[in-house]
Amino acid sequence: TLSSRLDKVFASLRGRGRLTDADIDATAREIRVALLEADVALPVVRGFVAAVKERARGAEVSASLNPAQQVIKIVNEELVAILGGGTTTLRYAKTPPTVILLAGLQGTGKTTLAGKLGRWLKAQGHTPLLVAADLQRPNAVNQLQVVGARAGVEVFAPEPGNGVGDPVRVARDALAHAHRQVFDVVVVDTAGRLGVDEEMMRQAADIRDAVSPDEILFVLDAMIGQDAVATASAFADGVGFSGVVLTKLDGDARGGAALSVAQVTGRPIMFASTGEALDDFDVFHPERMASRILGMGDVLTLIEQAEKAFEAEQAEAMAAKMVASEFTLEDFLEQMLAVRKMGPIGNLLGMLPGMGQMKDQLAQVDDRDVDRVVAIIRSMTPTERRDPRILQASRKARVARGSGVTVTEVNQLLDRFAEARKMMRQMAGGMGMPGGMGRAK
Ligand code: GDP
Ligand code: MG
Repeated sequence: TLSSRLDKVFASLRGRGRLTDADIDATAREIRVALLEADVALPVVRGFVAAVKERARGAEVSASLNPAQQVIKIVNEELVAILGGGTTTLRYAKTPPTVILLAGLQGTGKTTLAGKLGRWLKAQGHTPLLVAADLQRPNAVNQLQVVGARAGVEVFAPEPGNGVGDPVRVARDALAHAHRQVFDVVVVDTAGRLGVDEEMMRQAADIRDAVSPDEILFVLDAMIGQDAVATASAFADGVGFSGVVLTKLDGDARGGAALSVAQVTGRPIMFASTGEALDDFDVFHPERMASRILGMGDVLTLIEQAEKAFEAEQAEAMAAKMVASEFTLEDFLEQMLAVRKMGPIGNLLGMLPGMGQMKDQLAQVDDRDVDRVVAIIRSMTPTERRDPRILQASRKARVARGSGVTVTEVNQLLDRFAEARKMMRQMAGGMGMPGGMGRAK
């Protein structure tokens, strides 16, 4: 499996300081083989592996993760990105009803999906109508009626003897019915064939033209594996679609089809179906699918925890340093120079966490001000900078002369410094630091 393959590669990487080209190549080879075994289509595998190699090469050596974890993280991030990054929601029509057309091969789970969608939409506060536009199989209409009843959603079906055999007319009539009866979402179930054929594509396209859907969902059986690309391409050409629904994810398919179809069509996967029951259904979560394809959900969680722990450690170390070390005039100078480098003070203040208290201090800083502060502090001896309390009148006069300012200006600086130091102490003591950075002394 992919999991054990990656495990093997990463075991050999473990403990090294940085990724070498040889490491990356070896890893890339294994990922390639493993993805093919997970039934990801070959061109998709090629593109994917190239992207991962590129990123692994440019990646800085992370302080929080070992090389193995780093590669897994990159692979995972690329997977999630191709799978859409986040969840994708339905686009509802500005003027109802929103029309959703379902297309896909026979047996992929369209009719079941109609029921699931109906129930889901209802839970979201919508008033859906399911439309039986599959007139190909004798009991298709009845199947939708059963599913609709179970979901508690109305089904529009052709009257016996009226419009039988004409799915386009049924779809059109259903739309008129939805307008009259204030259904705000119309889900149109269509016929499928076991294989792609022209007649089926034409029928789906005819229905599409008759109802101008807001969303066309291509329903794909996750077990289809390598055929996913050819099937998806045929539907993209023949009918077109705006989103994908993956079904039968409760099976043991690794999910390679998801990666293939997302990459090749560029359409988002919107929903996932995980069983025959109406509740076995959810919006699609790329991160979950990525860990499924990798077969490494636990490893990914560990990586996340390692990174979080590292960040917390760093924050604590910084807070501890602030408490332990004396905040000196030189730190003060450095801080002001840093602030000046960052641009207009006013813009900046709002962006700094925990800096609200410093606002008055910092607001007084302008460029000339900083230059004056630099001059004053540089006119002090190192001992004076470390402990300004020793600055008596004669020393102040010397500093003022040396930096070309008045004694009053020296005093103002010392007052501001004393204020700033108090702030730093308070912040380090946990009064103003964000998110657990501060610690009680
Ligand atoms: P259609 O031909 O595309 O309309 O597909 P159906 O909705 O009739 O589903 C075909 C079969 O697949 C039925 O037996 C469904 O119960 C089953 N099915 C649909 N979705 C899922 C799913 O997510 N998981 C599993 N295990 N079975 C499903
Ligand atoms: Mg059906």
